[in-house]
Amino acid sequence: MSMKLEGNILVTGTNRGIGLELVKQLAERTGGEAHIYACCRAPDGTRAEALRDLTTQYPGKITIIKLDMSEEDSISAAVRAVKEQIGDGSLNLVINNAAINKPQTPAPLSATGKEDMMEVYETNVVGPFLLAKMFLPLLQRAAEMKSTGEGDKMSCRRSAIINISTLISSIEKCPETFAIAQMYPYRTSKAALNMLTRCQAEDFKSHNILVTAIHPGWVRTQMGGEQAPLTPLESVQGILSTMSSLSNKDCGMLLDWQGNTIPW
Ligand code: NDP
Repeated sequence: MSMKLEGNILVTGTNRGIGLELVKQLAERTGGEAHIYACCRAPDGTRAEALRDLTTQYPGKITIIKLDMSEEDSISAAVRAVKEQIGDGSLNLVINNAAINKPQTPAPLSATGKEDMMEVYETNVVGPFLLAKMFLPLLQRAAEMKSTGEGDKMSCRRSAIINISTLISSIEKCPETFAIAQMYPYRTSKAALNMLTRCQAEDFKSHNILVTAIHPGWVRTQMGGEQAPLTPLESVQGILSTMSSLSNKDCGMLLDWQGNTIPW
């Protein structure tokens, strides 16, 4: 049986899609001590209405943080805001969920240029890199605070970074997946996110911080499109139960929402 997630949890890209559902299920499924930092680039806009409704449904449990993952200043400001609220507490879990896919699907080579490559890389790779780097002290503190009795055991309850990746980042699986979705910028950015995951796993393992990449499945969101077989509800149920059971052996791996390993 997997244990519930708990502690201070931060999720990016939470005004819609998988991110919004992550905040919803985390609010439902975590205990009273848990707090969720729901990041979103335009918290006051009409596109964040559903997220604002969630915060009133779970009073005191969710804090909305303004964060644009493509802007370094916005990332430092968000980190400062979270640090202020956490005080001498710690951050147990960072879920890098926000991402873009440009140009719009089917995104063939002919329609893809330098700007798409750069923009997608900035949001999907550089953003998660900077965010994890800036939150490292708070994640380290979380791992240290939970060291009693847990030895060197890693978990999402203790201290972890989850990078939301995709099946189509897999280099080995490219011959099977390329025809369905070319998406040069998106695929290459997520393959880079996988390498970032592996590097962070190596770098942070001495601190007992778990770092794992998770593929959410093909999900009916703005990005996934209407033919996608999974609802956000189903995907996030899988993601959260997979996350609850992660341990040392999963650090530096790419898993799907059901916990199966995907080859790099
Ligand atoms: P959506 O397109 O539905 O949502 C993307 C979210 O990311 C939105 O909240 C969006 O906010 C946010 N976002 C985009 N750019 C930025 C930015 N610069 N700063 C802050 N937030 C930003 O996507 P999904 O929910 O489907 O995808 C979530 C994750 O799952 C992504 O990492 C995606 O790559 C991955 N994934 C999804 C699959 C699917 O089938 N849906 C399959 C495999 C992986 P805004 O409203 O402001 O644009």
